[in-house]
Amino acid sequence: MPIPLEKIQVVQDEIERFHDDEDNDYRNIRLKITTDEQDFSFLNKPTHTKRSVHYDIEPIFDLAYQPLRSTYEIEQASINNVLRRRYIAHWGLPEWLGDNQFLLQKHRPPAYSVRECLISIASIHSETVNIWTHLIGALCVCVTYILFLIDNYHQMDLSDLISFSFFFISAILCLTFSTLLHIFINYSPSVLVIASKLDYIGINILIFGSMVPVIHYLFYCSLQFKTIYISVLFVLSIVSMIGTSSAACSKPRYRPFKAILFIALGLYGVAPVTHACILHGLSRMFEMGFLYLCIMAVTYIAGGVVYAIRIPERCFPGRFDIIGQSHQILHIAVIAAVYLHFYGICCLFHNVIQTEQCIIPTVLKLGITDLSVTS
Ligand SMILES: [Zn+2]
Repeated sequence: MPIPLEKIQVVQDEIERFHDDEDNDYRNIRLKITTDEQDFSFLNKPTHTKRSVHYDIEPIFDLAYQPLRSTYEIEQASINNVLRRRYIAHWGLPEWLGDNQFLLQKHRPPAYSVRECLISIASIHSETVNIWTHLIGALCVCVTYILFLIDNYHQMDLSDLISFSFFFISAILCLTFSTLLHIFINYSPSVLVIASKLDYIGINILIFGSMVPVIHYLFYCSLQFKTIYISVLFVLSIVSMIGTSSAACSKPRYRPFKAILFIALGLYGVAPVTHACILHGLSRMFEMGFLYLCIMAVTYIAGGVVYAIRIPERCFPGRFDIIGQSHQILHIAVIAAVYLHFYGICCLFHNVIQTEQCIIPTVLKLGITDLSVTS
């Protein structure tokens, strides 16, 4: 039954009269209205019209009597909103965000806000583990880099410093770009494209930076081989970087092309390693820590395969929305591979500086000034 117009007018008049009276407490307004001489009995009837009247009136009071909030309070409310925010299911995601159809719940909706993306680092959703694995990984690699330099500074020459720095800085960049991608993946479609390009660039940099010290120590005394292998690696890395991060390659149909570029760059490592096996012999290679490099390669490949076939979420859709999904397994495989690689090149470094005596070595020792050379 519609509310008579005259009754609505009476309620409005009552509210205005109430506003003018400063002694009134707005929390008692309903009581005052209903106990007035006017006939407000329709407000007490449990009918649809009563509810609709209340819904219409209450916001007016909220606005009228709500004290002005400070900037701090507004910020806190915003943070609480984001932390308590309801995450959405896969079917509710826009096309540009719904990459993995086997993760059903707990996705962050498009944010269009840097602040929201940053705040969401502290909440639980489908990207939380992806963010934290590579954020902690990047910090750990930074600390390892500093500790390694402090520990080995006295026995490193300039070439050692450069080759190890290539490895550490490339790993830090790759993990940082990956962290940024996962933080801002839900910002907007254009930011997703930029962050994805950065991520691909980071992977290429990591492959390049990882191979430099291996080539350097496998051909420690052969400047010629070293230069050729690193130059070809550099050109291949640039081609792969441009190919994988170009705008055309962002489309799903170019995925195999991107995969081929990465595989080609990774497989290129086989060439100098095979050459070194012929040069030094297999037993000498294992003495130099070749085994750790093999385990590292297997770890990378295993992580990549798990990621490509989307196991285990493919078998149990919805069960790995928060933790255990294939992308997280890839992230942990990358961290493990980075440390295996570090251990492998440490073995190479210590073995080579103790055993290899080059005729024309790079003897720019950083910690000592002894430039004597034995052939
Ligand atoms: Zn990732």
